[in-house]
Amino acid sequence: MKKTAAIILAFIVLMTSFPSYAAGRIQTYGDELVIVIDPGHGGSNEGTDVYLPLEKERTLVTAKAMAAELERYANIKVYLTRDGDKELSLKERAEFAASVQADFIFSIHYNASEEHDVFGTEIWIPARAPLHAMGYQFADLWMQEMQGMGLHPRGIKTRLNDKGTDYYGIIREATAKAIPAVILEHCHLDAPQDRPWCDEEEDMKAFGRADATAVAKYFGLMSNNGDIDYVSWPLAEIHPDEVWVFPLGESSEPESCELELVALDEESGEAEFEVMAEDSDELLQYFAYSLDGGESYSPPEVWPGYAPNHTENAESTSFKLTLPKGRDTEVKVRVYNRYDRKTESETVSVSLNAPEPVVSVSESDADRARQDAALAWEGTHDIQERLDRIREGEEEKAEEESKDPAASEEVSADSAPSSGVTPTAAPSPVSEAAPPQQQEEADKSMLMPVLGASLLLLCAMLFTGYVLTHGKRR
Ligand SMILES: [Zn+2]
Repeated sequence: MKKTAAIILAFIVLMTSFPSYAAGRIQTYGDELVIVIDPGHGGSNEGTDVYLPLEKERTLVTAKAMAAELERYANIKVYLTRDGDKELSLKERAEFAASVQADFIFSIHYNASEEHDVFGTEIWIPARAPLHAMGYQFADLWMQEMQGMGLHPRGIKTRLNDKGTDYYGIIREATAKAIPAVILEHCHLDAPQDRPWCDEEEDMKAFGRADATAVAKYFGLMSNNGDIDYVSWPLAEIHPDEVWVFPLGESSEPESCELELVALDEESGEAEFEVMAEDSDELLQYFAYSLDGGESYSPPEVWPGYAPNHTENAESTSFKLTLPKGRDTEVKVRVYNRYDRKTESETVSVSLNAPEPVVSVSESDADRARQDAALAWEGTHDIQERLDRIREGEEEKAEEESKDPAASEEVSADSAPSSGVTPTAAPSPVSEAAPPQQQEEADKSMLMPVLGASLLLLCAMLFTGYVLTHGKRR
Protein backbone atom coordinates (compact mmCIF):
# COMPACT_ATOMS: atom_id res chain seq x y z
CA MET A 1 0.00 0.00 0.00
CA LYS A 2 2.86 2.32 0.87
CA LYS A 3 4.35 1.97 -2.60
CA THR A 4 1.00 2.42 -4.29
CA ALA A 5 0.40 5.58 -2.30
CA ALA A 6 3.93 6.78 -3.12
CA ILE A 7 3.32 6.20 -6.83
CA ILE A 8 0.04 8.09 -6.76
CA LEU A 9 1.64 10.94 -4.80
CA ALA A 10 4.65 11.05 -7.15
CA PHE A 11 2.29 11.07 -10.09
CA ILE A 12 0.26 13.98 -8.73
CA VAL A 13 3.49 15.90 -8.06
CA LEU A 14 4.75 15.16 -11.58
CA MET A 15 1.45 16.14 -13.19
CA THR A 16 1.41 19.48 -11.35
CA SER A 17 5.13 20.30 -11.82
CA PHE A 18 5.04 19.53 -15.57
CA PRO A 19 1.74 20.96 -16.72
CA SER A 20 2.71 20.67 -20.37
CA TYR A 21 3.50 16.95 -19.95
CA ALA A 22 0.81 14.70 -21.37
CA ALA A 23 0.71 11.21 -22.84
CA GLY A 24 3.62 12.07 -25.04
CA ARG A 25 6.11 9.93 -26.92
CA ILE A 26 9.32 10.07 -24.91
CA GLN A 27 11.66 8.52 -27.44
CA THR A 28 12.57 10.35 -30.60
CA TYR A 29 14.87 9.25 -33.42
CA GLY A 30 16.92 10.83 -36.21
CA ASP A 31 16.31 10.84 -39.93
CA GLU A 32 15.78 7.12 -40.08
CA LEU A 33 14.49 4.75 -37.42
CA VAL A 34 16.91 1.87 -36.76
CA ILE A 35 15.45 -1.28 -35.21
CA VAL A 36 17.41 -4.34 -34.12
CA ILE A 37 15.47 -7.55 -33.73
CA ASP A 38 17.30 -10.15 -31.67
CA PRO A 39 16.10 -13.75 -32.11
CA GLY A 40 16.89 -15.22 -28.68
CA HIS A 41 19.38 -18.09 -28.27
CA GLY A 42 21.07 -19.85 -31.23
CA GLY A 43 23.78 -22.47 -31.81
CA SER A 44 24.37 -24.66 -28.78
CA ASN A 45 22.19 -22.28 -26.76
CA GLU A 46 18.87 -23.85 -27.74
CA GLY A 47 16.56 -22.11 -25.28
CA THR A 48 13.66 -24.06 -23.86
CA ASP A 49 12.95 -27.50 -25.30
CA VAL A 50 9.75 -28.29 -23.38
CA TYR A 51 7.63 -28.15 -26.53
CA LEU A 52 9.26 -28.55 -29.92
CA PRO A 53 10.43 -26.89 -32.10
CA LEU A 54 13.25 -25.53 -29.95
CA GLU A 55 13.00 -21.97 -28.69
CA LYS A 56 16.00 -20.87 -30.84
CA GLU A 57 14.09 -22.01 -33.97
CA ARG A 58 10.84 -20.37 -32.93
CA THR A 59 12.49 -17.03 -32.14
CA LEU A 60 14.03 -16.93 -35.64
CA VAL A 61 10.66 -17.56 -37.33
CA THR A 62 9.03 -14.79 -35.26
CA ALA A 63 11.92 -12.34 -35.76
CA LYS A 64 11.86 -12.78 -39.56
CA ALA A 65 8.05 -12.27 -39.66
CA MET A 66 8.47 -9.16 -37.50
CA ALA A 67 11.18 -7.78 -39.80
CA ALA A 68 9.07 -8.45 -42.92
CA GLU A 69 6.07 -6.70 -41.36
CA LEU A 70 8.17 -3.65 -40.38
CA GLU A 71 9.31 -3.33 -44.03
CA ARG A 72 5.76 -2.10 -44.75
CA TYR A 73 6.54 1.13 -42.90
CA ALA A 74 8.32 4.17 -44.22
CA ASN A 75 11.66 5.51 -43.04
CA ILE A 76 12.81 2.45 -41.12
CA LYS A 77 15.88 0.24 -41.19
CA VAL A 78 15.60 -3.24 -39.63
CA TYR A 79 18.48 -5.55 -38.62
CA LEU A 80 18.52 -9.03 -37.14
CA THR A 81 21.32 -10.03 -34.75
CA ARG A 82 21.28 -13.42 -36.48
CA ASP A 83 19.41 -14.79 -39.48
CA GLY A 84 20.54 -18.42 -39.03
CA ASP A 85 21.43 -20.88 -36.27
CA LYS A 86 24.33 -18.84 -34.95
CA GLU A 87 25.70 -18.66 -31.43
CA LEU A 88 26.06 -15.12 -30.08
CA SER A 89 26.84 -13.75 -26.63
CA LEU A 90 24.53 -11.13 -25.17
CA LYS A 91 27.38 -8.63 -25.29
CA GLU A 92 27.93 -9.34 -29.00
CA ARG A 93 24.26 -8.72 -29.70
CA ALA A 94 24.35 -5.35 -27.89
CA GLU A 95 27.63 -4.42 -29.63
CA PHE A 96 26.07 -5.20 -32.99
CA ALA A 97 23.09 -2.95 -32.13
CA ALA A 98 25.44 -0.14 -31.13
CA SER A 99 27.42 -0.59 -34.36
CA VAL A 100 24.33 0.07 -36.48
CA GLN A 101 23.22 2.91 -34.15
CA ALA A 102 20.05 1.12 -33.14
CA ASP A 103 17.23 3.09 -31.56
CA PHE A 104 15.78 0.02 -29.87
CA ILE A 105 16.53 -3.71 -29.38
CA PHE A 106 13.66 -6.18 -29.34
CA SER A 107 14.79 -9.55 -28.04
CA ILE A 108 12.44 -12.34 -29.10
CA HIS A 109 11.77 -15.28 -26.74
CA TYR A 110 9.36 -18.02 -25.71
CA ASN A 111 8.81 -18.88 -22.09
CA ALA A 112 8.62 -21.88 -19.75
CA SER A 113 8.20 -21.73 -15.99
CA GLU A 114 10.16 -23.60 -13.35
CA GLU A 115 7.11 -25.43 -11.99
CA HIS A 116 5.34 -25.61 -15.37
CA ASP A 117 2.29 -24.01 -13.85
CA VAL A 118 1.94 -20.35 -14.94
CA PHE A 119 0.83 -19.04 -18.32
CA GLY A 120 0.47 -15.86 -20.32
CA THR A 121 2.65 -13.25 -21.97
CA GLU A 122 5.42 -11.36 -20.22
CA ILE A 123 7.84 -8.53 -21.02
CA TRP A 124 11.04 -7.47 -19.24
CA ILE A 125 12.01 -3.80 -19.50
CA PRO A 126 14.98 -1.71 -18.29
CA ALA A 127 14.88 -0.91 -14.57
CA ARG A 128 16.67 2.44 -14.80
CA ALA A 129 15.44 5.84 -15.98
CA PRO A 130 15.20 7.10 -18.63
CA LEU A 131 15.24 3.79 -20.57
CA HIS A 132 12.64 2.44 -18.17
CA ALA A 133 10.00 4.92 -19.37
CA MET A 134 10.73 4.07 -23.02
CA GLY A 135 10.52 0.36 -22.26
CA TYR A 136 7.31 0.91 -20.34
CA GLN A 137 5.60 2.87 -23.13
CA PHE A 138 6.48 0.15 -25.63
CA ALA A 139 5.53 -2.67 -23.21
CA ASP A 140 2.12 -1.15 -22.58
CA LEU A 141 1.33 -1.15 -26.32
CA TRP A 142 2.80 -4.61 -26.90
CA MET A 143 0.79 -6.07 -24.02
CA GLN A 144 -2.36 -4.65 -25.59
CA GLU A 145 -1.49 -6.45 -28.84
CA MET A 146 -0.98 -9.73 -26.96
CA GLN A 147 -4.23 -9.27 -25.02
CA GLY A 148 -5.96 -8.51 -28.31
CA MET A 149 -4.81 -11.95 -29.49
CA GLY A 150 -6.39 -13.44 -26.36
CA LEU A 151 -3.32 -14.07 -24.21
CA HIS A 152 -3.21 -13.49 -20.48
CA PRO A 153 -1.10 -10.35 -19.68
CA ARG A 154 1.30 -11.93 -17.20
CA GLY A 155 3.22 -8.77 -16.63
CA ILE A 156 5.49 -5.86 -17.47
CA LYS A 157 8.50 -6.51 -15.28
CA THR A 158 11.94 -5.42 -14.22
CA ARG A 159 14.67 -7.38 -12.49
CA LEU A 160 17.94 -6.35 -10.87
CA ASN A 161 21.05 -8.40 -10.07
CA ASP A 162 22.94 -8.09 -6.78
CA LYS A 163 25.08 -5.31 -8.28
CA GLY A 164 21.95 -3.24 -8.76
CA THR A 165 22.08 -3.36 -12.57
CA ASP A 166 19.63 -5.10 -14.86
CA TYR A 167 19.61 -8.87 -14.30
CA TYR A 168 19.03 -9.91 -17.91
CA GLY A 169 22.16 -9.60 -20.04
CA ILE A 170 20.68 -8.15 -23.21
CA ILE A 171 18.99 -5.34 -21.23
CA ARG A 172 22.09 -4.76 -19.10
CA GLU A 173 24.49 -4.67 -22.09
CA ALA A 174 22.15 -2.42 -24.11
CA THR A 175 21.62 -0.09 -21.13
CA ALA A 176 25.42 0.27 -20.91
CA LYS A 177 25.29 1.60 -24.49
CA ALA A 178 22.20 3.79 -23.78
CA ILE A 179 19.97 1.69 -26.04
CA PRO A 180 16.56 0.68 -24.71
CA ALA A 181 16.07 -3.10 -24.90
CA VAL A 182 13.13 -5.32 -23.99
CA ILE A 183 12.67 -9.08 -23.78
CA LEU A 184 9.44 -10.31 -25.35
CA GLU A 185 8.37 -13.60 -23.72
CA HIS A 186 5.44 -14.30 -26.02
CA CYS A 187 3.87 -17.25 -24.24
CA HIS A 188 4.65 -20.29 -22.12
CA LEU A 189 5.46 -23.34 -24.21
CA ASP A 190 4.88 -25.60 -21.19
CA ALA A 191 1.40 -24.18 -20.43
CA PRO A 192 -1.63 -25.91 -21.96
CA GLN A 193 -3.48 -22.59 -21.64
CA ASP A 194 -1.01 -20.98 -24.10
CA ARG A 195 -0.89 -23.83 -26.64
CA PRO A 196 -3.45 -22.30 -29.02
CA TRP A 197 -0.89 -19.52 -29.69
CA CYS A 198 2.19 -21.62 -30.23
CA ASP A 199 1.22 -24.82 -32.03
CA GLU A 200 1.89 -23.96 -35.68
CA GLU A 201 4.58 -22.06 -37.56
CA GLU A 202 1.83 -19.61 -38.54
CA ASP A 203 1.33 -18.86 -34.81
CA MET A 204 5.00 -17.83 -34.48
CA LYS A 205 4.64 -15.57 -37.53
CA ALA A 206 1.46 -14.03 -36.10
CA PHE A 207 3.45 -13.06 -33.01
CA GLY A 208 6.07 -11.39 -35.24
CA ARG A 209 3.41 -9.33 -37.03
CA ALA A 210 1.85 -8.27 -33.70
CA ASP A 211 5.30 -7.28 -32.39
CA ALA A 212 5.83 -5.11 -35.50
CA THR A 213 2.45 -3.42 -35.01
CA ALA A 214 3.39 -2.50 -31.43
CA VAL A 215 6.70 -1.05 -32.70
CA ALA A 216 4.88 1.00 -35.36
CA LYS A 217 2.47 2.38 -32.77
CA TYR A 218 5.26 3.13 -30.30
CA PHE A 219 7.30 5.12 -32.84
CA GLY A 220 4.22 6.61 -34.53
CA LEU A 221 4.96 5.13 -37.97
CA MET A 222 3.08 5.37 -41.22
CA SER A 223 3.04 2.61 -43.82
CA ASN A 224 4.74 3.07 -47.21
CA ASN A 225 1.45 3.36 -49.06
CA GLY A 226 -0.16 5.46 -46.33
CA ASP A 227 -2.93 2.97 -45.49
CA ILE A 228 -1.68 2.55 -41.92
CA ASP A 229 -1.15 5.68 -39.83
CA TYR A 230 0.04 5.45 -36.24
CA VAL A 231 1.56 8.96 -36.17
CA SER A 232 -0.74 10.17 -33.36
CA TRP A 233 -1.12 6.86 -31.59
CA PRO A 234 -1.55 7.53 -27.81
CA LEU A 235 1.06 6.19 -25.41
CA ALA A 236 0.95 5.38 -21.69
CA GLU A 237 1.57 8.31 -19.39
CA ILE A 238 4.96 8.14 -17.75
CA HIS A 239 7.65 10.75 -17.09
CA PRO A 240 11.16 10.03 -18.46
CA ASP A 241 12.60 10.09 -14.92
CA GLU A 242 9.91 7.90 -13.46
CA VAL A 243 10.36 4.23 -12.58
CA TRP A 244 6.92 2.73 -12.62
CA VAL A 245 7.59 -1.01 -12.31
CA PHE A 246 9.23 -2.19 -9.09
CA PRO A 247 11.80 -4.90 -9.74
CA LEU A 248 11.65 -8.55 -8.85
CA GLY A 249 13.48 -8.91 -5.55
CA GLU A 250 11.70 -5.99 -3.93
CA SER A 251 8.59 -8.11 -3.88
CA SER A 252 7.87 -10.45 -0.98
CA GLU A 253 5.27 -13.23 -0.75
CA PRO A 254 1.63 -12.23 -0.37
CA GLU A 255 1.09 -11.46 3.33
CA SER A 256 -2.02 -13.54 3.81
CA CYS A 257 -4.11 -16.23 2.19
CA GLU A 258 -7.21 -17.57 3.90
CA LEU A 259 -9.59 -20.28 2.78
CA GLU A 260 -13.16 -20.72 3.98
CA LEU A 261 -15.85 -23.26 3.14
CA VAL A 262 -18.98 -21.17 2.55
CA ALA A 263 -21.42 -23.77 1.20
CA LEU A 264 -21.62 -27.56 0.99
CA ASP A 265 -24.29 -29.71 -0.68
CA GLU A 266 -23.90 -33.14 0.95
CA GLU A 267 -26.05 -34.79 -1.73
CA SER A 268 -24.02 -33.70 -4.76
CA GLY A 269 -20.70 -33.07 -2.99
CA GLU A 270 -20.59 -29.55 -4.45
CA ALA A 271 -18.64 -27.19 -2.24
CA GLU A 272 -18.07 -23.45 -2.52
CA PHE A 273 -14.96 -21.83 -1.08
CA GLU A 274 -13.91 -18.26 -0.57
CA VAL A 275 -10.26 -17.18 -0.79
CA MET A 276 -9.18 -13.97 0.90
CA ALA A 277 -5.65 -12.76 0.19
CA GLU A 278 -3.52 -9.69 0.63
CA ASP A 279 -0.30 -8.41 -0.87
CA SER A 280 0.49 -4.83 0.06
CA ASP A 281 3.32 -4.23 -2.44
CA GLU A 282 2.47 -6.42 -5.43
CA LEU A 283 -0.49 -7.47 -7.51
CA LEU A 284 -2.04 -10.87 -6.96
CA GLN A 285 -2.12 -12.70 -10.26
CA TYR A 286 -3.20 -16.34 -9.91
CA PHE A 287 -4.64 -18.77 -7.41
CA ALA A 288 -4.71 -22.56 -7.42
CA TYR A 289 -6.26 -25.18 -5.16
CA SER A 290 -5.12 -28.53 -3.79
CA LEU A 291 -7.28 -31.52 -2.79
CA ASP A 292 -4.44 -33.38 -1.08
CA GLY A 293 -3.33 -30.89 1.55
CA GLY A 294 -0.86 -29.10 -0.72
CA GLU A 295 0.94 -32.13 -2.24
CA SER A 296 -0.27 -31.15 -5.69
CA TYR A 297 -2.14 -28.16 -7.09
CA SER A 298 -4.61 -27.43 -9.87
CA PRO A 299 -3.47 -25.32 -12.83
CA PRO A 300 -3.62 -21.71 -11.62
CA GLU A 301 -6.52 -19.45 -12.49
CA VAL A 302 -6.29 -15.69 -12.89
CA TRP A 303 -7.03 -13.71 -9.72
CA PRO A 304 -10.12 -11.58 -10.44
CA GLY A 305 -9.52 -8.07 -11.71
CA TYR A 306 -5.83 -8.67 -12.38
CA ALA A 307 -4.36 -6.34 -14.99
CA PRO A 308 -0.66 -5.53 -15.34
CA ASN A 309 -1.17 -1.77 -15.02
CA HIS A 310 -3.48 -1.88 -11.99
CA THR A 311 -2.35 -0.82 -8.55
CA GLU A 312 -5.06 -2.44 -6.46
CA ASN A 313 -5.89 -6.08 -5.77
CA ALA A 314 -9.28 -7.69 -5.45
CA GLU A 315 -9.54 -8.86 -1.83
CA SER A 316 -11.21 -12.18 -2.43
CA THR A 317 -12.49 -14.67 -4.92
CA SER A 318 -14.60 -17.80 -4.74
CA PHE A 319 -14.60 -21.13 -6.53
CA LYS A 320 -16.66 -24.32 -6.61
CA LEU A 321 -15.51 -27.92 -6.46
CA THR A 322 -17.27 -31.27 -6.47
CA LEU A 323 -15.70 -33.24 -3.66
CA PRO A 324 -15.47 -37.05 -3.50
CA LYS A 325 -17.76 -38.89 -1.07
CA GLY A 326 -16.88 -41.39 1.60
CA ARG A 327 -13.65 -39.71 2.72
CA ASP A 328 -12.04 -36.53 4.00
CA THR A 329 -10.68 -34.04 1.45
CA GLU A 330 -7.85 -31.77 2.53
CA VAL A 331 -8.51 -28.56 0.61
CA LYS A 332 -5.87 -25.88 0.41
CA VAL A 333 -5.24 -22.85 -1.82
CA ARG A 334 -2.26 -20.79 -2.77
CA VAL A 335 -2.10 -17.31 -4.29
CA TYR A 336 0.63 -16.04 -6.62
CA ASN A 337 1.67 -12.45 -7.02
CA ARG A 338 2.94 -10.91 -10.27
CA TYR A 339 6.44 -12.28 -9.61
CA ASP A 340 5.10 -15.78 -8.87
CA ARG A 341 5.78 -15.52 -5.15
CA LYS A 342 3.28 -17.79 -3.46
CA THR A 343 1.49 -18.03 -0.13
CA GLU A 344 -0.54 -21.07 0.96
CA SER A 345 -3.66 -21.12 3.10
CA GLU A 346 -4.32 -23.42 6.05
CA THR A 347 -5.89 -26.76 5.17
CA VAL A 348 -9.69 -27.01 5.34
CA SER A 349 -10.76 -30.63 5.86
CA VAL A 350 -14.16 -31.51 4.36
CA SER A 351 -15.76 -34.84 5.23
CA LEU A 352 -18.54 -36.31 3.09
CA ASN A 353 -20.40 -39.53 3.95
CA ALA A 354 -20.57 -42.46 1.54
CA PRO A 355 -23.42 -42.05 -0.93
CA GLU A 356 -25.60 -44.88 0.60
CA PRO A 357 -24.94 -45.17 4.34
CA VAL A 358 -25.37 -48.78 5.60
CA VAL A 359 -26.51 -49.31 9.21
CA SER A 360 -24.97 -52.55 10.38
CA VAL A 361 -27.10 -54.43 12.98
CA SER A 362 -25.96 -58.04 12.67
CA GLU A 363 -23.55 -60.05 10.63
CA SER A 364 -25.96 -62.82 9.65
CA ASP A 365 -27.09 -63.24 6.07
CA ALA A 366 -30.67 -63.01 7.19
CA ASP A 367 -30.04 -59.64 8.80
CA ARG A 368 -28.27 -58.37 5.75
CA ALA A 369 -31.17 -59.46 3.58
CA ARG A 370 -33.49 -57.68 5.96
CA GLN A 371 -31.40 -54.53 5.89
CA ASP A 372 -31.41 -54.54 2.12
CA ALA A 373 -35.16 -54.90 2.17
CA ALA A 374 -35.39 -52.12 4.74
CA LEU A 375 -33.34 -49.81 2.55
CA ALA A 376 -35.58 -50.61 -0.40
CA TRP A 377 -38.64 -49.88 1.64
CA GLU A 378 -40.60 -46.93 0.51
CA GLY A 379 -41.53 -44.37 3.07
CA THR A 380 -40.31 -41.28 4.81
CA HIS A 381 -39.04 -43.03 7.96
CA ASP A 382 -35.41 -43.01 8.75
CA ILE A 383 -33.43 -46.22 8.87
CA GLN A 384 -33.69 -46.70 12.65
CA GLU A 385 -37.43 -46.23 12.57
CA ARG A 386 -37.69 -48.75 9.77
CA LEU A 387 -35.62 -51.29 11.67
CA ASP A 388 -37.77 -50.78 14.80
CA ARG A 389 -40.87 -51.46 12.78
CA ILE A 390 -39.32 -54.54 11.26
CA ARG A 391 -38.47 -55.80 14.75
CA GLU A 392 -42.04 -55.15 15.98
CA GLY A 393 -43.41 -57.08 13.02
CA GLU A 394 -41.09 -59.96 13.80
CA GLU A 395 -42.17 -60.10 17.44
CA GLU A 396 -45.81 -60.37 16.41
CA LYS A 397 -44.91 -63.03 13.90
CA ALA A 398 -42.85 -64.92 16.48
CA GLU A 399 -45.81 -64.95 18.91
CA GLU A 400 -48.04 -66.51 16.29
CA GLU A 401 -45.39 -68.98 15.28
CA SER A 402 -44.95 -70.16 18.90
CA LYS A 403 -48.54 -71.48 18.72
CA ASP A 404 -47.82 -73.36 15.54
CA PRO A 405 -45.50 -76.33 16.20
CA ALA A 406 -44.45 -76.60 12.56
CA ALA A 407 -43.52 -72.90 12.36
CA SER A 408 -41.63 -73.07 15.69
CA GLU A 409 -39.51 -75.93 14.44
CA GLU A 410 -38.60 -73.95 11.34
CA VAL A 411 -37.55 -70.93 13.45
CA SER A 412 -35.37 -72.97 15.83
CA ALA A 413 -33.69 -74.72 12.91
CA ASP A 414 -32.48 -71.37 11.53
CA SER A 415 -31.42 -70.08 14.99
CA ALA A 416 -32.41 -66.62 13.79
CA PRO A 417 -35.49 -64.92 15.17
CA SER A 418 -36.92 -64.89 11.69
CA SER A 419 -35.85 -66.13 8.31
CA GLY A 420 -36.19 -64.05 5.21
CA VAL A 421 -39.01 -62.03 6.62
CA THR A 422 -39.40 -58.83 4.75
CA PRO A 423 -40.71 -55.73 6.46
CA THR A 424 -43.47 -55.51 3.90
CA ALA A 425 -44.91 -58.83 5.17
CA ALA A 426 -47.81 -57.71 7.32
CA PRO A 427 -48.68 -59.67 10.47
CA SER A 428 -51.40 -62.35 9.88
CA PRO A 429 -54.76 -60.68 9.67
CA VAL A 430 -56.87 -61.18 12.79
CA SER A 431 -59.93 -63.30 11.89
CA GLU A 432 -63.48 -62.01 12.50
CA ALA A 433 -64.33 -65.40 13.98
CA ALA A 434 -63.14 -66.26 17.51
CA PRO A 435 -60.06 -68.44 17.71
CA PRO A 436 -60.53 -72.17 18.55
CA GLN A 437 -59.60 -71.80 22.24
CA GLN A 438 -62.12 -69.03 22.77
CA GLN A 439 -64.80 -71.11 20.98
CA GLU A 440 -64.13 -74.00 23.38
CA GLU A 441 -64.52 -71.72 26.40
CA ALA A 442 -67.74 -70.32 24.94
CA ASP A 443 -69.08 -73.87 24.54
CA LYS A 444 -68.19 -74.65 28.21
CA SER A 445 -70.04 -71.60 29.51
CA MET A 446 -73.15 -72.57 27.53
CA LEU A 447 -73.14 -76.11 29.14
CA MET A 448 -73.00 -74.91 32.79
CA PRO A 449 -76.55 -73.53 33.19
CA VAL A 450 -78.03 -76.65 31.51
CA LEU A 451 -76.22 -78.97 33.92
CA GLY A 452 -77.28 -76.81 36.92
CA ALA A 453 -80.93 -76.79 35.86
CA SER A 454 -80.91 -80.60 35.33
CA LEU A 455 -79.45 -81.11 38.81
CA LEU A 456 -82.08 -78.88 40.39
CA LEU A 457 -84.84 -80.74 38.55
CA LEU A 458 -83.52 -84.13 39.78
CA CYS A 459 -83.42 -82.87 43.41
CA ALA A 460 -86.98 -81.58 43.14
CA MET A 461 -88.24 -84.89 41.79
CA LEU A 462 -86.54 -86.90 44.60
CA PHE A 463 -87.93 -84.53 47.26
CA THR A 464 -91.51 -84.83 45.87
CA GLY A 465 -91.28 -88.66 45.83
CA TYR A 466 -90.08 -88.75 49.47
CA VAL A 467 -92.93 -86.48 50.66
CA LEU A 468 -95.55 -88.51 48.86
CA THR A 469 -94.37 -91.89 50.31
CA HIS A 470 -93.92 -90.69 53.91
CA GLY A 471 -97.16 -88.71 53.80
CA LYS A 472 -99.21 -91.86 52.89
CA ARG A 473 -97.76 -93.75 55.89
CA ARG A 474 -99.14 -91.17 58.32
ZN1 LIG B 1 14.58 -17.46 -24.20
